[in-house]
Amino acid sequence: MHTKEADQLLKQSNLRQTDCRREVICVFLSRQHAVSQPELEQALHKFDRVTLYRTLNTFLTKGIIHKVLDDTGSTKYALCTGECTEHHHEDEHVHFKCLKCENIVCIEAVSVPAISLPTGFTYVDASLLVRGICNLCQGNNES
Ligand SMILES: [Zn+2]
Ligand SMILES: [Zn+2]
Ligand SMILES: [Zn+2]
Repeated sequence: MHTKEADQLLKQSNLRQTDCRREVICVFLSRQHAVSQPELEQALHKFDRVTLYRTLNTFLTKGIIHKVLDDTGSTKYALCTGECTEHHHEDEHVHFKCLKCENIVCIEAVSVPAISLPTGFTYVDASLLVRGICNLCQGNNES
């Protein structure tokens, strides 16, 4: 368990430490890849859906997690890096989906390239999903 780290994150975001919030963060910390709400429900079945949904929303607002769009149309969530704050996310990095294990991970080292739009279009945000085989499935644990 990552209880200490979870409590630290909650404290930084001025959030009260509830069991649900703490355990949701622990799930994110232990998986190291993006998690969907159904996966979260499965891992934490002692909390009801509404509570989990509210917790995810609070975390999104507070800059603790960000949304990761999957090519199946389902939404996943991943932990933010330290730069995100309340109402302001800095997560325009590439997401990588492995075709073998189907996990999606944040590739924070690669940002989404700047997009120049035609006149009349206003940019809000962009997400980029790269698909391939991840380092774990390739048996390559070098990095
Ligand atoms: Zn963020
Ligand atoms: Zn994989
Ligand atoms: Zn990400």
